Amino acid sequence: MQDSNSRYNHIIGNAVMDKHYNLKIADESIYSYLGATAVPLFLAYIHPEDRTIFTDALNSADNGEGEVYVTVRLRSFVDKYSVVLIFIKQSSIDPKQFYELNIYDLIYLAKEYEEVKIQLKKIKVTMQLLKPSLLFDYNPRNSEITVFSDRDVVRFKGKIEDLHREILERGVVDKSSLSDVNHFFDSLRNIDDGMNYTINMSTFSNGAEMQPVNIRTASILDKTNNSVLAVVGTVSPVDDTNANLDTRYSNSNMDPLTGLYNKAAIKELAVEALNTKHKSITYVMLDLDSFKEVNDTYGHMFGDEVILNVARIIKDVVGRDGYVGRVGGDEFFVVLFDMGTELNELRPILRSIRAQIEWAYKGKLGGIKLTASIGCASYGKDADNYDDLFKLADHCLYCAKTKGRDRFVIYNKEMHGSLEDIKANNNSIKIDRSVSQRQKLQFVVDAVSRLNDWGSEVIESVISQMLRYFLISEVYIYDVKSHKAVYSAPDAPVEDEKENICTFFNDLAPVFRESNVFAYGDYFNLKMLYSDFYDYAERNKIYSLYVYAIKNKGEITHLAVIYSKGHYEKWSETDQNYFNIIFKTIGDKMIN
Ligand code: GH3
Ligand code: MG
Repeated sequence: MQDSNSRYNHIIGNAVMDKHYNLKIADESIYSYLGATAVPLFLAYIHPEDRTIFTDALNSADNGEGEVYVTVRLRSFVDKYSVVLIFIKQSSIDPKQFYELNIYDLIYLAKEYEEVKIQLKKIKVTMQLLKPSLLFDYNPRNSEITVFSDRDVVRFKGKIEDLHREILERGVVDKSSLSDVNHFFDSLRNIDDGMNYTINMSTFSNGAEMQPVNIRTASILDKTNNSVLAVVGTVSPVDDTNANLDTRYSNSNMDPLTGLYNKAAIKELAVEALNTKHKSITYVMLDLDSFKEVNDTYGHMFGDEVILNVARIIKDVVGRDGYVGRVGGDEFFVVLFDMGTELNELRPILRSIRAQIEWAYKGKLGGIKLTASIGCASYGKDADNYDDLFKLADHCLYCAKTKGRDRFVIYNKEMHGSLEDIKANNNSIKIDRSVSQRQKLQFVVDAVSRLNDWGSEVIESVISQMLRYFLISEVYIYDVKSHKAVYSAPDAPVEDEKENICTFFNDLAPVFRESNVFAYGDYFNLKMLYSDFYDYAERNKIYSLYVYAIKNKGEITHLAVIYSKGHYEKWSETDQNYFNIIFKTIGDKMIN
């Protein structure tokens, strides 16, 4: 500890914390940082995204790793986060009950840290697309290198010299590549930027034969003093044909929590797959059962972990047989190729996904049974375009849910009805799917707490979930200045900024002087009062609408709009109150 004191001057203070993350003893200076009215729950002050890092570090300290340290964002009394370094060790008073924390402020590094972290994350996510591959991180400050698999299994952690020696000793490198390997390690020690080596080695053939392997690196710079913070790299077999396909999809197409494709990207891949020469293509929709209960009982952080784990399971089972995307909270969309026969290939994969999810949490969640419902439909046999196939798969998912969940349903015309029937019944399905008041309330409470926990990054997911709980067709949040939809559900905005509700903002604005809300089911009145807007609404088949004006210091900055298109919908008073609550919270998060 002595030596860490001299390294970091910005000491915030020392504290003793119990196993439930409550501060038991803390320096005066800690309270002056957290605020005089601070609650004992220390975890509450750590940024939600960093809480797992912190609790993992506590576990490491418990596992006898001695003193460990983490960098996390800690909220101060002014409600701002700064990056702090926390040294953690089991308390000498009672190691089973308490931890000693020494907290140092790295405040001036906060912004840079943020950037570096984002950059590192991006690179890692992109690199995870190269399968099967190894990733590595080299830290020039202590000459340590960590090699891990694409699922974060650490293969090597230690000094660069030791790895170099180990590779040469184990004879995994072909003689023809020895000088290249030595070169590579020299360049790495010199932190040369953007290396690209092709080396013959047996790493990916279980030592059987030598095969060309591509090693690439990128450096992560510390902007404050232009030094290299880390070098990250990938090691992947050269003839990895699928890798080329995958790398076209950059990290903007990734779901940040799971690293899977996000909704837009998986849709694009699903559409594109139909134009390739795959023998068969199957769309698979999967939604976890009782996931809300898991969230409610164990909290969102744990829920996120479950989603991440489920994502890994699905990705593992699907492997190179398809693409996996996350399309919403607990909903996944998989595109499978070349399934051969339903009996020999498709069913085993679905069975395996279903079973592995069930086993992963069997008996571990108290009374909650975490299972999955799955629906799927195949190209050619069932439909020949994206929209129809998606609809059929989604309908089968719905059938799986209504039949009692925990099962997969493969589309069959005789059993589930023709595409035309399903399309025609869309509305009744929607109403069937419609939810009780209690479920709606639960959704609203849940949405508000998620917005409070995670801020604006969950807005997209909250508004897309609204479509499930209420009878509405579309939700938009428009920026009144640019006329652009900053959030929308479902999918990308159908309307563009040329003409939308913002175009009529000046006409409608007086309504918002007294209230934040404007709801219309009564079109006759609308026609009388705002005839231009009425014409627009009619042209666009907007039959009912609800508008919430998001204000910042009394000034309207955004319009949150709900439409029912194609048919009238009279939302109940309660529903409208729910909309108000949701948009008020969203507004708060957007302004912050
Ligand atoms: P069902 O069997 O009908 O699917 O029941 P369910 O409880 O799984 O309910 P549903 O699929 O309708 O709701 C999914 C829930 O997922 C709603 C919300 O609380 C939660 N959720 C959505 N996005 C996230 C997220 O990013 N993280 C976490 N932890 N929870 C999320
Ligand atoms: Mg669910």
